[in-house]
Parts: sequence; structure tokens; C-alpha cells
Amino acid sequence: MTFATLGLIEPLLRALETLGYQTPTPVQAQAIPAVLAGRDLMAAAQTGTGKTAGFALPLLQLLTMEGPKVAANSARALILCPTRELAEQVHASVAEYAQHLPLTTYAVYGGVSINPQMMKLRKGVDILVATPGRLIDLFRQNALKLNQLQTLVLDEADRMLDLGFSEELANIYRMLPKKRQTLLFSATFSDDIRLLAGQMLNDPLSIEVSPRNVAANTVKQWVVPVDKKRKAELFVHLMRKGRWKQVLVFAKTRNGVDALVDKLQGLGINADGIHGDKPQATRQRALDRFKASEVQILVATDVAARGLDIEDLPLVVNFDLPIVAEDYIHRIGRTGRAGNTGEAISLVCADEVNMLSAIEMLTRQTLSRKMEPDFEPEHRVPDTDASGQVVKKPKKPKKPKTSGSGGKRNLGKWVDSGDVAPAEPSIKPVRKVPVFNTGPRKKK
Ligand code: AMP
Repeated sequence: MTFATLGLIEPLLRALETLGYQTPTPVQAQAIPAVLAGRDLMAAAQTGTGKTAGFALPLLQLLTMEGPKVAANSARALILCPTRELAEQVHASVAEYAQHLPLTTYAVYGGVSINPQMMKLRKGVDILVATPGRLIDLFRQNALKLNQLQTLVLDEADRMLDLGFSEELANIYRMLPKKRQTLLFSATFSDDIRLLAGQMLNDPLSIEVSPRNVAANTVKQWVVPVDKKRKAELFVHLMRKGRWKQVLVFAKTRNGVDALVDKLQGLGINADGIHGDKPQATRQRALDRFKASEVQILVATDVAARGLDIEDLPLVVNFDLPIVAEDYIHRIGRTGRAGNTGEAISLVCADEVNMLSAIEMLTRQTLSRKMEPDFEPEHRVPDTDASGQVVKKPKKPKKPKTSGSGGKRNLGKWVDSGDVAPAEPSIKPVRKVPVFNTGPRKKK
């Protein structure tokens, strides 16, 4: 199968040739003809499967072939993304695919001044990529009208709900014309997302290119059990032993990111960090430098877990396990992309056993454990498996405790409440699903 046999027009084929795309990926093979035929779509596709081109290529074709010229302060297609980074990245891909087409594209998101965005929207844009909060701001300030909208794409819809955007999505839904095409993409498909899809989509075609909630099998994954207080030391040890070149590291909190970056920089290691407390420009610069291999170790919170496409990233390290098990799939999806192989190593301490168990249950696998000599934990990580059971073996007779070991940890406290910055919504483990089309409109 080729892109030409899927019915794509010549300017798109030319762009794909320049980009070196030869064969459509499975999600592209299914999505492209369906979107061209005008169908609504509900696609469960893992990160790195080529889903962006799966929706962007047919969307660009439809906008070129059909519909009126874009009006002032309007958009003909809207792509909603959960984070600023993803919005930038999706926009960059769309602009590349559109390079030979007479269409305009633009991305808007929070954390930067709204005025240039309002100016840019004056002439209207064919494709607008947006994060939900900024889109609503622009709409409320009359900088954007949505009555010309032909297509809505929800990218990483599950993430939008995880980030607490359910109310924003309900508001946006009310701003849209009833007659439109809607494409919903999500790496994982929870029951909440299926409910949302039921409300937003019209007779959608379901596409599932990989088994539900299973991590890409191109990623070799394992766990290194370790005591919490020795994680940083173990990280440096593994890094030197494995001669790691480029690593994306995930830490649970913003403080955790800063502490690890400080430690690594203190050792003369080329490291940088990104999290929601840092200004957008600083985050983007760190990411660009990492992509250009000018930074060796990038430490991030889950803000960076989704959508970031870094070519040939060989290794992801979970310095801490994610609070939401689905984020594990997104984190490790940063490696093993587009058919390459990758490795994902998780440094797991006893406090994290419930998170480990949740991940194994979700991904239906028991992660293998590799004990690192000299780093065997004092606090044993209980056995876990894909059934969700945590097996606490009877304790061995204890060695006398060394002083200053830090004492017991609070097993239930996974999030530092003081660590949630105002710029980013906090991750809510319990999701609220909006009910659309009911009740009076809320005024803010
Ligand atoms: P995505 O899942 O959309 O983030 O895409 C993952 C990566 O695969 C990106 O670097 C794309 O440029 C690349 N890609 C997408 N489709 C193809 C294709 N058909 N052939 C080769 N690379 C692709």
C-alpha cells in the first residue's frame, strides 16, 4: 500500500516524499480513507504510530478540495491538544504536510501573550491548533468565531480529561456548529473517553491499531528496585555504566526535577529540566536543545510525557513511577518510535509498589526486575504481577538499622500538594466526565 493508493492528492504526496514517509502506518491506512469519506472517527492509537499524519493529511486534503475560503477571525478546522508542547509539535507536523498547499495554519496556547495571537487570527486560519483554555479565552474575547468550523480533532483526549479539561471541553462543544466532522484520538481508551465519544461523535468508525492499553512492543522495559534515598546515586551509576548518551528522565514532582538536575549539573553532567513552573520559552528552549543533542539528560514531569516526538530517542528512565498508570504508556512511548527499538528503565522503591502493580495490570505484563549490585534495597519492593496482586513475603530477620535512614514513608502520599503550579492544571486521578447539551450555560 502507498499513500497514493489511499487517494491523497499530489501536493501532499510531494511533501511526504520530502519527509521520507514511504508506507502508511496501520493507523494512517485506516484513518485516511475514512476521514476523506467524511466519517467521524474514534481512534485508539499509541504514541509513535503516526497518528498525527493519520488525521492531518486527509484533513488538509478536505480543506483544500472543499468548503469556502476562511473568513476573518475564523478557523475551518480545530485541533485540540492537552499541552502547549504537543500543540507546537502537532502544528509543526501539520505545517510540514501543508507546505505545498494554499492553506494557513497556526497554534495558540496559554503561557504566552494573547495579543499576537489575536492579531494573527484577524485574517482567519484554515487549521488552528489550540490548547483548550486559550481557545476559550480567544473565543470569549471575540478574536475567534467557530461558525465556519468543518472539522474538530481531539488529540490525546484521555490526557485532556486527566488534566481536568472536562469542563473546558464541554464549553468548547457548545461553541461548535452542530454539523461538523469530529475525529477523536487517544493513546489509551478508558470508559470515560468512550462516554465522551458517545456524546461528541456521530456514528464514528472505531479504529484500534494496537491492543487496548498495551505498551509498544518495540520498547524493552525493566525495573531496578532501589531505596528511595539512593535513586539519584543509582541513576548516575547506571548512566556511567551504560554510557548513556541521550536520556529522557521522568520525575514525579517539579521539586524532584529541579533536585535531580541540580545534582547532575553539580557532577558536571549536561542536564536540563522542564516542568510547569518554568516559562514556556524556557521549556521550549530546553526541549529544542535536547532534540538537537546539545543537552544529554532532560528531566521532566509528565507535562513532557505526551506527544513529544524526539527522533531516535534510545532510552527513557522513570526516576519515579507516574501517579496515573496510563502515563507510563505515554512516557515510554517517547522511545521505540516509528519502528525503532528503545529501552525504558524504572527505578522503583518500596513506596511505589502500588503504582508498579497498577502499571503491570494496565499493560498486562509483569515487568522484569534487575537488581543492581551494591544498590539492593534495604526496603524490599514486594512482588507484583499483572493480576494486580502485591505479594508481601514474610520479612527476613532484620539487620540492625543504620542511623539516619529517613524512617517510614507515608505510602498513600503520592503527590506533594505544594508542588502544583498555577500555570498547569493538576493531574486528577479521578476524572469527571462532562454531560453535553444539558443544563443552562455556565457564565464565568
Ligand atoms: P506520531 O505518532 O504522529 O507522533 O508520529 C511518530 C513519528 O513517526 C513522527 O516522527 C512522524 O514524523 C513519523 N511518521 C509518521 N508517519 C510515518 C510514515 N508513514 N513513515 C515514516 N515515518 C512516519
